[in-house]
Amino acid sequence: MSTSNEPSFRESVDIMFNRAVALLDLPPGLEEKIRVCNATYTVRFGVRLRGKIETFTGYRSVHSEHMEPVKGGIRYSMGVNQDEVEALAALMTYKCALVETPFGGSKGGLCIDPREYEEHELELITRRFAYELAKRDLINPSQNVPAPDMGTGEREMAWIADQYRRMNTTDINGAACVTGKPINAGGIHGRTEATGRGVQYALREFFRHSEDVKIAGLTGKLDGKRVVVQGLGNVGYHAAKFLTDEDGAIVTGIIERDGALISDDGLDIDAVHAWIRKHGGVANYPNAEFVENGASVLEKECDILIPAAMEGVIDMTNADQIKAPLIIEAANGPVTAGADEILRKKGCVIIPDMYANAGGVTVSYFEWVKNLSHIRFGRMQRRQEEARHQLVVDELERLDRYMGDAWSMTPDFKAKYLKGADELELVRSGLDDTMRQAYQDMRALWHDRDDVDDLRTAAYLVAITRVAGSYRAKGL
Ligand code: NAD
Repeated sequence: MSTSNEPSFRESVDIMFNRAVALLDLPPGLEEKIRVCNATYTVRFGVRLRGKIETFTGYRSVHSEHMEPVKGGIRYSMGVNQDEVEALAALMTYKCALVETPFGGSKGGLCIDPREYEEHELELITRRFAYELAKRDLINPSQNVPAPDMGTGEREMAWIADQYRRMNTTDINGAACVTGKPINAGGIHGRTEATGRGVQYALREFFRHSEDVKIAGLTGKLDGKRVVVQGLGNVGYHAAKFLTDEDGAIVTGIIERDGALISDDGLDIDAVHAWIRKHGGVANYPNAEFVENGASVLEKECDILIPAAMEGVIDMTNADQIKAPLIIEAANGPVTAGADEILRKKGCVIIPDMYANAGGVTVSYFEWVKNLSHIRFGRMQRRQEEARHQLVVDELERLDRYMGDAWSMTPDFKAKYLKGADELELVRSGLDDTMRQAYQDMRALWHDRDDVDDLRTAAYLVAITRVAGSYRAKGL
């Protein structure tokens, strides 16, 4: 619930941008050029459904073309409007610069509640929307490449790719017109999990720096940390699952549309996820306490709060009640500019959206490269790598025989060492490297500059400096 002096989502992004850009010495006018959204296309189209024509409104916003193609998801939600799409497109510009993916920023949205439609109806609507965008080059492998976002996934991306190819039958790079596709339609292993996986890698990197952990008033590693997650969709589910299964974190709260579940012993992520899929919400889930006012659980005592649903959920009305010392913004824009100020004053550390959820665009970049190179990652090297490892293992086995009982290989060393990396391992490795590097770029400014006292400002500074560099190189 926002108050009247709460800025809109786009204003929030601009306020955060302005706070950071004031610390840079950019040539006159360049600041404005970077901040403004280049263009937003609005389309209204009709689709014949259930015996009558229904009109839909969609948007595709291009924030910055300092690099092309521009990149950004397509969202299906009733909340979609021009302000939201432009804010998300701006965030994409900064996000791509921060994680060094060679794209400008874009975003799209369709004002629709996908749960109200049958699959074949959604296909008709998606194909028509894709047609409207593709014919204006707002879907195009070299100019504008969408991806999934709230309310869309692999299925919609496959329809979009197919629609583009029907319209461009001789474009050999057609598959690269959209990312987040299923494997059998040119996708890449690890894309669906990528954003949640990136949240995990971001937290792991944060916890590698004990100095930063201390600023948040925490100690130790992720093991045993109490986590509250809002939104158990694509991003929230994967983040929660990996943090509990692989890092020993305990999810004590899950907030969904219809309420929240809490359990101090920890919630079973897969069981809750399966329950939501079957029943459409968390109500009546048997092994936890149900809280009808879900948003109130954002204020629950915990170590890490992961808003992974939508924007503006932490605003000036509830920021003061938030108890988590560390917030990682898995969603885009979950903390308004007003709330950000209140939380910073309280000493809460916020790992900002443009970094925290950049795993999606990072793996989308890998998928786009895979599509353009027409070959799966690892296909050429994998067996050669295994053959070289075999040489070492043969030599170690020879030593083993020679040394007798004095030395032997650990039992599973051979199997682990021999195995060459497959696409999923390479994708995860590339993602981990990206998340680590971007965190280090942000934290260097956070710690080195006296006028930078939060990670968000640091993230904007890294991003704006890179975008400004591209504009300068173009002679602007
Ligand atoms: P999704 O549609 O898969 O999941 C969203 C989840 O949030 C759903 O489970 C939904 O029921 C829940 N939800 C919606 N409104 C809620 C509310 N008011 N309170 C509590 N829960 C609510 O969407 P997603 O792809 O996981 O995206 C979530 C956020 O992450 C968005 O802000 C999106 O922009 C951002 N994001 C997504 C990706 C991606 O790769 N999918 C990448 C970067 C950022």
